[in-house]
Amino acid sequence: MFDAVIVGAGFAGLYMLHRLRGLGLTARVYEAGKGVGGTWYWNRYPGARCDVESMDYSYSFSDELQQEWRWSERYSAQPEILRYANHVADRFDLRKDIHFETRVTSAVFEEATARWAVETDQGDRATARFCIMATGCLSDAQIPDLKGLDSFAGKWYHTGKWPHEGVDFTGRRVGVIGTGSSAIQSIPLIAKQASHLYVFQRTPNFSMPAQNAPLDPEYERRVKESYADFRRQARESRVGFVTERSGDSALAVPAEEREREYEKRWRRGGLGFSAAYTDLLISKEANDTAARFFREKIRAIVRDSAVADLLCPQSYPLGTKRLCVDTGYYDTFNRDNVTLVDVRKTAIEAITSKGVRVDGVEYAVDDLVFATGFDAMTGALLNIDIRGRGSRKLSAEWAGGPRTYLGLTVEGFPNLFMITGPGSPSVLSNMIVSIEQHVDWIADCVSHLRERGLGTIEATAAAQEAWVQHVNEVGHMTLYPLAPSWYMGANIPGKPRVFMPYIGGVGVYRQKCDEVAAKGYEGFALGR
Ligand code: NAP
Repeated sequence: MFDAVIVGAGFAGLYMLHRLRGLGLTARVYEAGKGVGGTWYWNRYPGARCDVESMDYSYSFSDELQQEWRWSERYSAQPEILRYANHVADRFDLRKDIHFETRVTSAVFEEATARWAVETDQGDRATARFCIMATGCLSDAQIPDLKGLDSFAGKWYHTGKWPHEGVDFTGRRVGVIGTGSSAIQSIPLIAKQASHLYVFQRTPNFSMPAQNAPLDPEYERRVKESYADFRRQARESRVGFVTERSGDSALAVPAEEREREYEKRWRRGGLGFSAAYTDLLISKEANDTAARFFREKIRAIVRDSAVADLLCPQSYPLGTKRLCVDTGYYDTFNRDNVTLVDVRKTAIEAITSKGVRVDGVEYAVDDLVFATGFDAMTGALLNIDIRGRGSRKLSAEWAGGPRTYLGLTVEGFPNLFMITGPGSPSVLSNMIVSIEQHVDWIADCVSHLRERGLGTIEATAAAQEAWVQHVNEVGHMTLYPLAPSWYMGANIPGKPRVFMPYIGGVGVYRQKCDEVAAKGYEGFALGR
């Protein structure tokens, strides 16, 4: 019997455990991996790197931690972030409450006792007052259902489940399927090792140069001097980090000025590009000006004009599929040993014993890399058999798309919390800022219940309905629903097309959550 079971020991699970411990509560964490770190534990592909800057992408809950830890680059690479996660686990002595190599299979709310019964693939059975899902938004790796994969004689990998010992592609013919963020980061490095690299592209992406560099010690010093203020601004911002945000419409400024602004942001690099004008993600016409700028950049970098054309996104507005951040991606297509294969006009026909067949042509490869993404936001949750009151199954409740109150809770599932769940800013934000906000909110909520001798908290149907509507409404005020993205569930056959994250902004959302709490948990039923 625990006060809480936490599922997952990534950044969310680690901090949740730390907070609950601080309240004097008992918690058990179950983690499928052999170690902590979540995303950064699994995604070890070459070039894996965060696209949020290091000084932003780190915990703020401990000033000692944020002062003592030193990042080496502007954008941290996966091994460094994983070292950080391990450091946090050690520094706060978290490991003793984590059961590794243990996957939670079911979580059932027992009404008679108002407790969650959690079972794992290792045969554990634990009961707890609270069940907290820290399962990650991009953790359920997907391999497309392609004919013939069983017959492939070479080795194949998924970027999201990369072998810990690494993979040496030296002298090998490699195929990469997919051109999302994971592919865009790994392709330049794989190309340097492989004898030949085939990139199978269905949809080109917009990618910004990272302009990565060693972390400037002067910048680090300045941030550390005023870290509290830096963090406050991030929490109040739209996306969980501060970026120069213009108040102008892209259409209201002269073309030359707009180009100068885009050029400045391109040179600076990173995700801040979409903040250049207020209407880039609202007006298609405004967005077109930025998309055109990108396409010109691609054409200026890639020498073969047919290849450049294929790399130019045309079918969706810039930023409505997650913007990528790269180091040398477009330039990689100037190498003699790299071939871009279009699988948009004609889909991959089959994987054969020797390689990949497209439109009757067999591309022979020794190794295949699936950079094919994840069942985002809901996949990891729905892989667990979660049942609430009256044995209601979460999978049935969400058959038409996820329905939550604040992206934190679900009506009919008392005392179940999701960290960065659908209906919260989550994947549209700096994840660590959103994680900390949710963990703090949940910890405060649990304290509130305890202080008042209350046993349960549960979203009301009316509050959930209103929130779902609000999330939809604001989502549909933007261009996001125009893209067949994983935000919309479009990458998974049969998944309902719903814009899952909340786009109202991190600061606004935090205020809303704080107001709900301040009003005695408005929209929730509290029980004994
Ligand atoms: P992704 O963005 O979902 O990309 C998957 C790619 O695989 C897409 O290009 C997709 O094409 C392609 N694909 C899927 N099935 C296919 C098929 N049957 N045939 C051909 N192509 C197929 O996945 P991801 O690159 O792993 O990135 C997911 C998210 O993780 C990112 O958007 C980002 O939020 C996060 N991430 C972040 C970082 C970072 O911090 N730098 C790095 C990696 C990932 P379509 O587009 O046509 O579906």
